Amino acid sequence: MRPQTAWRQPSCCRSPQISCRAATGPVVNAAAAASSVLLPPETLRTARLLYATSGAPAHTYPGHPECAERVPAILTALETSGLTPYERPEELVQLEGFSAAPLEAVLAVHVGKYAEQLEKLSQRAAESGTAMHVEQETTYLTGSTYGDAMRAAGAVLALVDNVVAASRQREAEAASSSSSGSSSSPAAFAICRPPGHHCLPGGPMGFCIFGNAAIAARHAQRVHGLQRVLVYDFDVHHGNGTQAVFENDPDVLFISSHQSGSYPNTGKIGEVGTGAGEGATINVPLPGDSGHTAALDVFETIVAPAAQRFKPDIILVSAGYDAHWRDPLAGLQFRTSTYHALGACLKQLADQLCGGRIVFLLEGGYDLKALGESVANTFLGVLGEGPADAFNPDLLRDEPTEKVQQVLLEARRIHDL
Ligand SMILES: [Zn+2]
Repeated sequence: MRPQTAWRQPSCCRSPQISCRAATGPVVNAAAAASSVLLPPETLRTARLLYATSGAPAHTYPGHPECAERVPAILTALETSGLTPYERPEELVQLEGFSAAPLEAVLAVHVGKYAEQLEKLSQRAAESGTAMHVEQETTYLTGSTYGDAMRAAGAVLALVDNVVAASRQREAEAASSSSSGSSSSPAAFAICRPPGHHCLPGGPMGFCIFGNAAIAARHAQRVHGLQRVLVYDFDVHHGNGTQAVFENDPDVLFISSHQSGSYPNTGKIGEVGTGAGEGATINVPLPGDSGHTAALDVFETIVAPAAQRFKPDIILVSAGYDAHWRDPLAGLQFRTSTYHALGACLKQLADQLCGGRIVFLLEGGYDLKALGESVANTFLGVLGEGPADAFNPDLLRDEPTEKVQQVLLEARRIHDL
């Protein structure tokens, strides 16, 4: 059941209304989009949240936290919360029948040799029936990994395609006054694995096989002619792979908030991009124990003003849930309701800046119960409904408020925000 309690919008959602900016340019590569599946116009007209799942059940390794149980845990939580197309058929739509990512979309981010080697190694693992480590002890590969990684990226691309299609349809209908519905696009969420934000152009890293967010950003530009892409990464770890792809690109604004000093120990506040991309990378390394207040302050003082200045054509969110206080891999204290607030704020930002075009994609999150509840709360936030925090946060420690404010002041000074 969904909670019926009254809910007041977080203050970070109350930024000034900014007129929607139309998608720029025509579809430049229709062939690449043709591998995707587009929902019928009547579905795109009423949908408020699209999602796609790619659970990679055979990409798993004994004892490894990035495990096959993660996606089922999320789906169970969505079902428990009544967040299914069965219960809400016109608003929530599961996209099915999408294809794996086209190789050319992956090669817009990764070097060909890496994709080739990964396919060969995955084939070898399939033949031998043995999983292997491909990056010291951190990242593993099984016989299904190559196909799973291509399918995870494909899920994100298919959602980008549908969000853009819905946006163009609604803008056209609003212009011709043929519809009284919202001209804002539905949001989307890719419940996919393996994750991607640590993966480098030339190889896997930190549980990540292909850079799903980076691939989706390039796809939005190449296939849909969307010039400016904002990627916000709220995983507890720095999205070093995404940063590496775009650090000298002024058309992709990458913002990462993460726990200072956590894996892979990159994402220092002074890493701001290079060359033409200087200033288009924003890092906010938060001190240990930072929690709900810090997360909302990051949004309000860094993410929202930077986005308003940048004026993205689409927002992608590397949605990792390992900053949750229950997560075993790190030391921040986000609550389940923190992810609700982030979902609400980010959807509102997309409505203000880019016709509502926003696609969340799963990164980390390793406490299965917290992961499921937090994704369900992100859904509720995106839908503009109240939070449902199942946990009693009595064990939370005080947030290091003064240290957080120092970091935010420094980031604002560096980026003139
Ligand atoms: Zn992480």
